[in-house]
Amino acid sequence: MATSPKRGLVLVADDDPTMRLLMLEMLAQVGLDAIEAEDGVKALACYQSVSPDLVLLDVDMPGLDGFTVCREIRRLETHATVPVIMVTGGDELESVTRAYEAGATDFVSKPINWPILGHRVLYVLRASDAISRLRIADAQHRAVLAAIPDTFFRMNKDGYYLDYEQGNEASNVCASELCVGRHLSQVLPPDIANNMLTQVRSVLDTQRIQSLDYELPPPGPSPLPMRHFEARLVATGPDEVLGLVRDISERKRSEEQIRRLAYCDSLTGIPNRQAFLETLEAELVRSRKANKKFAVLFMDLDAFKRINDTLGHDVGDQLLQAVSERLRDTTRPGDLVSRTESGTNLARLGGDEFTILIPDLERVEDALNVAHRVKEAMRRPFMLEPHEIFVTASIGISLYPQDGEDSNSLLKYADTAMYHAKNCGKNNAKLYSASMTMQIMSHVKLEVGLRKALQNDELYLLYQPQIDVASARITGCEALVRWRHPERGVISPTEFIPLAEETGLIVPIGEWVLRAACREAIAWQAPDKPPVRVAVNLSAKQFKDENLTQIVLSALHDTGLAAELLELELTEGTLMDDARATMVTLEQLRGIGVRLSIDDFGTGYSSMNYLKRFDVRALKIDKSFISGLPLDSENAAITRAIIAMAHGLKMAVVAEGVETDAQLRLLEQYGCDMVQGYYLGHPSTPDTINRMLASQSALAMT
Ligand code: C2E
Ligand code: CA
Ligand code: CA
Repeated sequence: MATSPKRGLVLVADDDPTMRLLMLEMLAQVGLDAIEAEDGVKALACYQSVSPDLVLLDVDMPGLDGFTVCREIRRLETHATVPVIMVTGGDELESVTRAYEAGATDFVSKPINWPILGHRVLYVLRASDAISRLRIADAQHRAVLAAIPDTFFRMNKDGYYLDYEQGNEASNVCASELCVGRHLSQVLPPDIANNMLTQVRSVLDTQRIQSLDYELPPPGPSPLPMRHFEARLVATGPDEVLGLVRDISERKRSEEQIRRLAYCDSLTGIPNRQAFLETLEAELVRSRKANKKFAVLFMDLDAFKRINDTLGHDVGDQLLQAVSERLRDTTRPGDLVSRTESGTNLARLGGDEFTILIPDLERVEDALNVAHRVKEAMRRPFMLEPHEIFVTASIGISLYPQDGEDSNSLLKYADTAMYHAKNCGKNNAKLYSASMTMQIMSHVKLEVGLRKALQNDELYLLYQPQIDVASARITGCEALVRWRHPERGVISPTEFIPLAEETGLIVPIGEWVLRAACREAIAWQAPDKPPVRVAVNLSAKQFKDENLTQIVLSALHDTGLAAELLELELTEGTLMDDARATMVTLEQLRGIGVRLSIDDFGTGYSSMNYLKRFDVRALKIDKSFISGLPLDSENAAITRAIIAMAHGLKMAVVAEGVETDAQLRLLEQYGCDMVQGYYLGHPSTPDTINRMLASQSALAMT
């Protein structure tokens, strides 16, 4: 049953016909076919023509003897070994030895034990079958091992090499003869050997394939980079593993290249957003474990877009490259407190946004110092022939752990802080802090509320009387807006007017103020008494609104107030902004007949020349000059000078913020025309104003 169907043809070579007959008979008994040859020459010819599965060969034959035939057969053999059984006689030991030397597989000696001859032949056939199967398997293994580039080894559980075959592409480790019989630790560096031994044991325990990577220096003193290897270990028995070691240096190199492409900003060559996020993530883990602090700096160039738009994208790109170069110099690891493990603490997030990570932060000041250095580095002009470009940068800083504990928040907060820095006048560095969020949050909330304030009727006006010094009468009132916030109560205009200006809401709010003031001022007028003016504050945004004249006209028209009873208060800043457009607007307003005055005079340019050109009728000395009076001699001198100059230009002067009798007396002495302040009347409701007007005599001027 172990023999294949083909395996059954036996060549019987013997010069004795009786012997041949008996042999054939015995072989037939066990189901084997046979052909005969009566001498050595015929036996060889027969062997070549029929390729028998086994040869039964008599030693003593005329012509070629059995030993010669056997040797010939072995010489002729190309692949599979045909078992040859020699039939020996005579001096037994000597012929047995000669038979094996000639290449015989087995022997039977005369006298032949006939009943077992057939079985003996069968047994040899079967054994040779098994051997040839093994040989095929072995050849296959060798072929597989030869075909793959891997180095192959067998190792016992204690880490001794049992076998070692150098791979055909291997740059590896050591030659076979140096490995077999030696311990891992004699072949590999100690840490790798230890690692591998642990893996070998684990593979034997679990009977699962496992792999490990390691690096080895190139053989000999070589400037070449480290080589990377991957060893796969598989158990081949309870105490033995087979290992395949592959040189994966190439793969590592391409992986590294892909990594570089994916993690590098192509314009500047520094790490990109993805790389930065991963660095940040790693730094979070590291800092958390080591209980350390770090900072994230977010830098944005001020006015980069303008450079890009005016000088072109090429120049913009060159500038970004130069900027990243300078940043790289400024944030060299040695310059920073320390470096991250990967060494990438600078990155370009996109556009003109750069980030810097400062690990192992000990004091917040260290982050501010880096920010300061960066700002200074940006201030030096960039020479991009033929342009000399000046830039400034705004920087926001967030801190781990106080500001946030995850990378998204930290980046977002640094960004927020950067915006804050920009809003504070650019070329600035700002720390993010929880209170800043609160501030921004309440700012946003306030803005949402302000949008609804008008339609919800939450705005109202108070009026502050302006008194004519000479007659001690109220000749006008300044309208001052208030916001009754549904939750926060009354909010001062100093808080919400700037917000209204920022958001453009000042235009509709201003229009509402104008209409309300005109409407309420109508009630102050009586035919038998001198007229009372109403003064309305105009912000720069309103002044620039092209519909301003139209709005003023329609407010006057709709309420019926005479134009000369409306006074518009403008600040110097508003007038200086754009002289030509200002002239046009002023001309139109004068054409309507309204009165114009300069508010907060003395805090801005204080240029009398300008005032002359603008032909303004009145000037309000800022309350900061008045508040120090009468003790502050410097402010007293300024106040007096302003009054004198204004009179020279035929302008009336109003002093604001008059709080004391002494101030009032001094101003009177200086010849000030009108006064306004708490001493003379707080901003009051229309009812109160009406009552004050009704009893003008109540205001005593001495
Ligand atoms: P402003 O035009 O200089 O108004 C004078 C401010 O000084 C008012 O503050 C007033 O209440 C305050 N004041 C009056 N007398 C005294 C005094 O004796 N001592 C002191 N310390 N302060 C005094 P208020 O009402 O809070 O207004 C602040 C600013 O808000 C105004 O400054 C003005 O610039 C702006 N504003 C108020 N209402 C409007 C408005 O309807 N439209 C625009 N565009 N701005 C307005
Ligand atoms: Ca004012
Ligand atoms: Ca003022």
